[in-house]
Amino acid sequence: MWFTEEVGELASALLRGDPEQVGEEFGDVLAWLCTLASIAGIDLEQVAVDKYAQGCPKCHHIPCQCPEPRSG
Ligand SMILES: [Zn+2]
Repeated sequence: MWFTEEVGELASALLRGDPEQVGEEFGDVLAWLCTLASIAGIDLEQVAVDKYAQGCPKCHHIPCQCPEPRSG
């Protein structure tokens, strides 16, 4: 599964903080995501719209207004 490798490359690009590399890796990951979704017979855009059209699934606000998790 090459997808995990691409995600790993994206993570290291983010850690290095190289914007050009990050953009490139996001493109790779997105391309893989779309490919995998279509193989699975899933309309990625529709899934995202269905899930987030009403705002955050928890607080129903756009953008999300959930209280930040606090420790202690
Ligand atoms: Zn929320």
